[in-house]
Amino acid sequence: MSNVLVTGGAGYIGSHACKALKAAGYTPVTFDNLVTGWRDAVKFGPFEEGDLLDRARLDAVFAKYQPIAVMHFAALSQVGESMAEPGKYWRNNVSGSLNLIEAAVDADCLNFVFSSTCATYGDQDNVVLDETSVQQPINAYGASKRAIEDILRDFEASHGLSHVIFRYFNVAGADPEAEVGEYHQPETHLIPLMLDAIDGKRDALTIFGTDYDTPDGTCIRDYVHVCDLVDAHVLGLKWLMDGKESRVFNLGTGAGFSVREVIDHSRDVTNREVPFQIGDRRAGDCTRLVSGSTRAVQELGWKPEKSSLKQMITDAWRWHQTGHYDA
Ligand code: UDP
Repeated sequence: MSNVLVTGGAGYIGSHACKALKAAGYTPVTFDNLVTGWRDAVKFGPFEEGDLLDRARLDAVFAKYQPIAVMHFAALSQVGESMAEPGKYWRNNVSGSLNLIEAAVDADCLNFVFSSTCATYGDQDNVVLDETSVQQPINAYGASKRAIEDILRDFEASHGLSHVIFRYFNVAGADPEAEVGEYHQPETHLIPLMLDAIDGKRDALTIFGTDYDTPDGTCIRDYVHVCDLVDAHVLGLKWLMDGKESRVFNLGTGAGFSVREVIDHSRDVTNREVPFQIGDRRAGDCTRLVSGSTRAVQELGWKPEKSSLKQMITDAWRWHQTGHYDA
């Protein structure tokens, strides 16, 4: 049995990862406290409810399943909230991850795939953000993820914990079969908010700032399809299973789109107007986050084939119209 412990497997990215792991022949064991995840999203393997801050619970789950690896998605991930409540982010993300890492090492589970973020780079305008770029986060979310990266490096040196760190750019889209999809409560992400506004489920979208130093004044992000993203994780797992060295990979496509460009594409995909208004900047937002890296393509053999903006919005729209989780 090739069990993989998936923390946050009831969340947006974790649930897609479980589907990809199952398709690749692994058994994904979801560990989730259901604070931001959904029981309905756990469809592809066993479920263990628990909190990363509960070390005894973690030890019991490691003992029960004896996983060959950990994929660690569970985290709080809202930039704005992290600025208002940094303690929550340091406790949940950093203390929780430290617990998980220590439990993994004690259980002799020494393969670890970690969800990090381009927010660890901070605001470096006109700089190509590759894996060697300096990490200067400008929000507590990014700082908490950078700290976990440091912990992983220390545990590799001291305990031989092999790890692959993925620094995500902006994850979007949904499973094309709409078995799982993106559903946050509250929702803060651009594309699902926009789709809600399009079909009247919520008020007009607010564009957070039009005075950035970009061609149309709105922030630029590098969007990557969630299915492409989780495919990279399966490749990362194989990388570790092959005994290769610990490595950091950016996951982005290198294409940047402004908020206004995302609105234009959404109008084209849905054939509906996007109600929006102009608002102030959101605290902690970087002007431009675009991945300058091809490392994942060259070294992992990653092929991000679904990550056109049109495909991501099409799949997100299908999920928006057909899928949902019960609270
Ligand atoms: N954004 C926006 N209005 C919203 C939500 C997001 O203008 O209601 C912008 C946000 O400022 C950023 C981009 O859309 O430039 C993507 O934001 P999101 O929260 O989806 O992801 P983040 O980049 O914060 O990880």
